Amino acid sequence: MKLTFCWAAKIVTWSCYLIETWNTKFLVDCGMFQWPKEIMRLNYEPFLFDPKEIDFVLLTHAHIDHCGILPKLHRDGFDGKIYTTSATRDLCEILFEDSAEIQEKNTEQENRRRQRIWQPLRVPLYNKDDAKNCMPLFSIVEYKKTYNITENIQVRYQDAWHIMWSASIEVWITEDNKKTKLVFSGDIGQRNTPIIQDPTLIQDADYLFMESTYWDRLHEDSAGKEELLLKYTLETYKRWWKLLIPSFSVERTQELLYFFNMLIKKWKFPKEKIFLDSPLSIKATEIFKRHTEYFDNEATHKYANPFNFAELQYSENVEDSQKLNTYNQPCIIIAGNGMCTAWRITHHLKHGLRDKRNMLLFVGYQAEWTLWRHIQEWEKKIKIMDADITVNAEIEAIHGFSGHAGYDELIKRAGGFAKPPKKTFIIHGEEKAQIALKARLEEINFECTIPSLKDVVEL
Ligand SMILES: [Zn+2]
Repeated sequence: MKLTFCWAAKIVTWSCYLIETWNTKFLVDCGMFQWPKEIMRLNYEPFLFDPKEIDFVLLTHAHIDHCGILPKLHRDGFDGKIYTTSATRDLCEILFEDSAEIQEKNTEQENRRRQRIWQPLRVPLYNKDDAKNCMPLFSIVEYKKTYNITENIQVRYQDAWHIMWSASIEVWITEDNKKTKLVFSGDIGQRNTPIIQDPTLIQDADYLFMESTYWDRLHEDSAGKEELLLKYTLETYKRWWKLLIPSFSVERTQELLYFFNMLIKKWKFPKEKIFLDSPLSIKATEIFKRHTEYFDNEATHKYANPFNFAELQYSENVEDSQKLNTYNQPCIIIAGNGMCTAWRITHHLKHGLRDKRNMLLFVGYQAEWTLWRHIQEWEKKIKIMDADITVNAEIEAIHGFSGHAGYDELIKRAGGFAKPPKKTFIIHGEEKAQIALKARLEEINFECTIPSLKDVVEL
């Protein structure tokens, strides 16, 4: 069989692998390029394969860099099944709709520019109809069950801890009476993440495809996160002002709400308003409320409904969001998007970063090239929505909120293998993280490769 690294090699923000056996072609993930602009243009290039020839897709989780291009894949001819967990399907539905809206708006803007310089106009990567049309292709799988997808291909999904209902996927392929096992780690999360149940460790593979996003970091543990969240909130409230938190809509936002609810229930926390200012985060939170089947014991029993509490207020529309600019009480504003590349958080940053009483708190991975990285690296002068801003607000970060495992966890996962795989491909990470993970895995006798975009390997 043959595997092509369509994307996800030597860069963090997207994922797609093509596997070709003698009679089947399938994909694992089909993500969208997100940042920076020069790389986003790759979304408009034709696929490296003919979508009509793809028999099915195995989807690890509902992050746009893993699933975001599926509506385009369908529009361009793919008509097979997309196998994933039930809530991943529900989350994809809101992500695709949101993404289609962004595509349509961006294309409109781009076409205005093209019109001025007499360039041919562009069609959106996909539109809302494409997003809707893709949904009937989804086919639901459960964790830990083995499915015969074809006569020669079996798959089993295991919880990856990364976001709720995310998966690592085991794939068994039989060719010439020989069975080969591939394992796609998907994005791997941390142990003891709130809400999510701890996973089953995978113990064997012939070929392992392992993410490396945070290989070069360690994280604060859960207790550390809770304390830091309390500390930064109290510090901001002491100055009688606002705590701004850019957050990813799926999982990170719900984890934050879970912690704030917990802090309020423990009576350690001031009862000021917590605004959730992101329509997508609000929709995702509603999906979390519906899918309690994989909540862990603590989320199910101790905090029976972790996303319902009096201090939480949804800012559903633009007017609600704009009102926050003049809201003059201490408060917390959680707004999308998580990388500060667009949407409501950019308005809050434009209004809030000049004021030294405010605090901007980072709670997640930020790709290279993003505004967040510029701010994190203490550049005091930045540009937001064409405005020059001098950053006076306090800047803090809690790394423990990462949805990605730190190096200790990744090594524990690898150490869980009864014997090293024949080969391990290190994927989905910035280059320095990949090199560091490779060196460490080689110490425990893993043979590792760091593939490049469009590499093809025979397995
Ligand atoms: Zn992810």
